[in-house]
Amino acid sequence: MTGKVHSIQSLGTLDGPGVRFVVFLQGCNLRCGCCHNPDTWDCNGGREASVSEIIEKVRRYKGYFGKDGGITLSGGEPLLQAGFAERIFSECKKIGIHTCLDTSGSILNDDVLKLFDVTDRVLLDVKYPTDEQYRRYVGCGIKTPLDFLAVLNQKNIPTTLRQVTIPTLNDSDESIEFLNGLAEKYPCVDKIELLPFKKICTVKYEQMGLPFRFKSFDTPSSDLMKNLTSKIRY
Ligand code: SF4
Repeated sequence: MTGKVHSIQSLGTLDGPGVRFVVFLQGCNLRCGCCHNPDTWDCNGGREASVSEIIEKVRRYKGYFGKDGGITLSGGEPLLQAGFAERIFSECKKIGIHTCLDTSGSILNDDVLKLFDVTDRVLLDVKYPTDEQYRRYVGCGIKTPLDFLAVLNQKNIPTTLRQVTIPTLNDSDESIEFLNGLAEKYPCVDKIELLPFKKICTVKYEQMGLPFRFKSFDTPSSDLMKNLTSKIRY
């Protein structure tokens, strides 16, 4: 079986626990204003890669994973290729590699449910605290990722909530409390991570001839990130 891959990062430390082999899958169903990977959007882009090619590669790095690390499938939106992802994770589980899925939680179908059976952790992006913001800046309602989270909870899949902090949009106390509240409501959530909004992707947008809708938003200061992080209870 083959799928569309954007790129591979052999030893990443930002996308899931420990040291990880991160495969960025090509294609996304959303068009978030803050997206720093517009080059992953086009489902026709990227290159074809087979499950066996990925497994052969990840196997070479197994020695670096320690007790926490493993493979992460990110994107783009990896759930657009849930069948391919399921094959990769199934093979990884057979050889004792921890599996982690980085997703916006906007696709839920039978293939995704099958993928959950071989997923050890989900990194779920919860981008904003309100439905209005979701509709305006993401392109779906907030109910979509929240319904997804409810299923993760039913299935007891350890979940990290992630949010890119964008000053004026989601840096209020209420916004942080919204995340804390989700972790309280859904015991599958054992961690919340805030990531600073960055604008290094501006060049990518320019090269692609696309407008960067969030160009005018500021990046958060390290003091703001420290302050918000101190209010996270998970
Ligand atoms: S879901 Fe992720 S990859 Fe897709 S547009 Fe949003 S930020 Fe970009």
